[in-house]
Amino acid sequence: MNFTAESVWTDCLSFIKDNIKPQAYKTWFEPIKPVKLSGEALTIQVPSKFFYEWLEEHYIKLLRVALVRQLGNEAKLIYDVKMENNYSSNRPQIVKIPSSNRDPLKPQRLTVPLESGKRELRNPFIIPGLQKVKIESQLNANYSFANFIEGDSNRLARSAGMAVANKPGGTSFNPLLIYGGVGLGKTHLSHSIGVDIKDKYPDKTVLYISSEKFTQQFIDSVKSNTRNDFIHFYQMIDVLIIDDVQFLSGKAGTQDVFFHIFNHLHQNGKQVILTSDKAPVDMQDIEQRLLSRFKWGLSAELQAPDYETRIAILQNKLYRDGVEMPEDIVEYIAKNIKSNVRELEGVLISMIAQASFNRKEFSIDLAKQIVDKFVKNTKKEVSIDYIQKEVSKYFDMDVATLQSKTRKRHIVQARQLAMYFAKRLTKTSLASIGNQIGQRDHATVLHACKTVDNLTETDKQFRKYVDDLTKKLTF
Ligand code: ADP
Ligand code: MG
Repeated sequence: MNFTAESVWTDCLSFIKDNIKPQAYKTWFEPIKPVKLSGEALTIQVPSKFFYEWLEEHYIKLLRVALVRQLGNEAKLIYDVKMENNYSSNRPQIVKIPSSNRDPLKPQRLTVPLESGKRELRNPFIIPGLQKVKIESQLNANYSFANFIEGDSNRLARSAGMAVANKPGGTSFNPLLIYGGVGLGKTHLSHSIGVDIKDKYPDKTVLYISSEKFTQQFIDSVKSNTRNDFIHFYQMIDVLIIDDVQFLSGKAGTQDVFFHIFNHLHQNGKQVILTSDKAPVDMQDIEQRLLSRFKWGLSAELQAPDYETRIAILQNKLYRDGVEMPEDIVEYIAKNIKSNVRELEGVLISMIAQASFNRKEFSIDLAKQIVDKFVKNTKKEVSIDYIQKEVSKYFDMDVATLQSKTRKRHIVQARQLAMYFAKRLTKTSLASIGNQIGQRDHATVLHACKTVDNLTETDKQFRKYVDDLTKKLTF
């Protein structure tokens, strides 16, 4: 009989095809190429190490049965893993040989150096079985570099983004981590990079995804037992953009899977772009090994834009919307909304809406009303820690004193004021306030609030404390 690698493999495939679901066959077997048959050993080529691990984990029994049918009990299977870039050039090629006299599930592991000629770049999208996979990038074309106004506050992040877009995976900015406060353009900038890459390299697979969605997909994949498909999917991407990675904090399972995906992409020269509301050093409940990866590339901060940049952002938005607005009004808005570009745009959008619904002219008065609303509504909830610090500072004592068990009148008063403001300015329960302010119970907090109310009405000096502290705590 004249067996060839092709003929043996074709027969194996027809057997395998009958025994698994069509989708699984398409995904995991069509991409395989038979390369060599020597004696009873068939060598197959798989697109990645991941692929090989997956076959070993899920299909080794089936493969073995198929092979034994063709080649008899001495059948051996050798994997030829195509390494995808030079990263692995010093690593030995892993070859596994499951054979009849060994437990097929615990195949012997042999390492054989990779023949240099065999190493070549390989895009998973030219694997026959996966050829038709097309991934929607989930990018918003409006979030372009052109619409992302440059200023001192974002210059580094913006130029790093452009460098990455010119050469995805080919700069030392990998991963590129963009961090900064709410509404400062992290999402916009990360989209810009993706949009520009799609423009310059239409064949590259770009994917934008929020951490929350990523987490949800991962949880779903675990539930439906498709975790490997999930991983495989993400490992096929050329440019992966994950927004708001701070949401991964505390989610060990998702961090773990992301760690593996990240490593795979990075090793294969793929680009990873991350955004976060914090610098890596300040991220909490993120595994150390993941944090250290975040620091491999470049962390670029987006700061609050300065006045000129705020004006430019407003003018650009007006221009794009085809709206004209008197300069003094634009300046008024830019002067009053300082720390959040989303709010800056929000005021503009409200202005335009108000003016057109009510057929009003743009006026400073209208701008004032809207700015006031924005400033009020977006005031951050203060923390109990912050309240304790401010109250202690005001009374010239430290927080430990404020929390202590002493009954000295001025300390008791300070503590009661802290409790009163915690109740007034946060949504925390009485029990939790008591707990945080010197381990008191909820009745004590309630009593404190009543006392402060009473004293405010009867004691002029005390009312001044309340007024001063109100100003301090609410700006
Ligand atoms: P973040 O993700 O940091 O919370 P976003 O990217 O969602 O912020 O930005 C909020 C809004 O501000 C978006 O509409 C975005 O287009 C706009 N924006 C932020 N920075 C700029 C900028 N430099 N130029 C133009 N628009 C900006
Ligand atoms: Mg965002």
